[in-house]
Amino acid sequence: MGNRLAGKVCIITGAGSGIGREAAILFAQEGGKVVVADVNVAGGEETVRLIREAGGEAIFVRTDVTKAAEVEALVRTAEDTYGKLDVMFNNAGIFPDEDGSVVDTPEEVWDRVMAVNLKGVFLGCKYAIPAMLRAGGGSIINTASFVALMGAAVPQIAYTASKGGVLAMTREIAIEFARKNIRANALCPGPVDTPLLRSILSDPAKRQRRLVHIPMGRFAQAREVAQAALFLASDESSYVTATAFLVDGGITAAYITPE
Ligand code: NAD
Repeated sequence: MGNRLAGKVCIITGAGSGIGREAAILFAQEGGKVVVADVNVAGGEETVRLIREAGGEAIFVRTDVTKAAEVEALVRTAEDTYGKLDVMFNNAGIFPDEDGSVVDTPEEVWDRVMAVNLKGVFLGCKYAIPAMLRAGGGSIINTASFVALMGAAVPQIAYTASKGGVLAMTREIAIEFARKNIRANALCPGPVDTPLLRSILSDPAKRQRRLVHIPMGRFAQAREVAQAALFLASDESSYVTATAFLVDGGITAAYITPE
């Protein structure tokens, strides 16, 4: 066990899978008290089981991040259980297959993606910030994506727009609360090998279409993104705020990649 988050109370949304689960495990290994939030009860409970098995501290709170009352209750539970809130990792997100070109993405899909990916992050910040002010400060990590910064010829229009919104919203939150000891950063991963990308990763042609643009020539592992979230959550990043924190294997800097 490390101590990079010793005593810090951390909420992680979407911690029942992928990046959120890896971050929950890592944060607990570093001494954090982790509040695992997810709509998926089985996934969330499994994350807590894995943490406790390794001697870490965690609870599960079933939460739909699109529901204000549930996010408010999540923050209250964190404070009631562990006495304060130090870190809010707004990680929950969706990437539906029906999200595509602007001309044929159904309105219902647009609304659903915005509700989880953008409104969910808004609600997480809305209820976490008063708790952080009570605690004397904190670190907010909002998951955007490299697609907030680059366009693709294989579009997911609602997803991309939602992540652009997360990036802009996070910047403004960071500036507003910069003198209140609250930092806020937008985490921008490149493509990560998680269940979210299942339909792309399982199709050789779709995989290759993306791999050619990644200088490192591989997708990220969830653990590699969780390590960046750990840095942003910890006091090691005490002068880092309002950033688009890229963990993208070099994609956004590349014109021609190695053969
Ligand atoms: P994942 O699908 O493995 O995990 C997402 C989790 O969010 C799931 O456990 C799911 O149940 C939960 N969730 C979905 N809707 C929810 C809701 N309404 N309330 C609470 N929880 C909800 O995905 P992942 O790849 O770990 O993605 C995590 C974040 O990283 C997302 O915001 C995603 O957009 C972002 N991201 C992923 C990639 C990638 O390539 N995988 C790249 C860039 C950004």
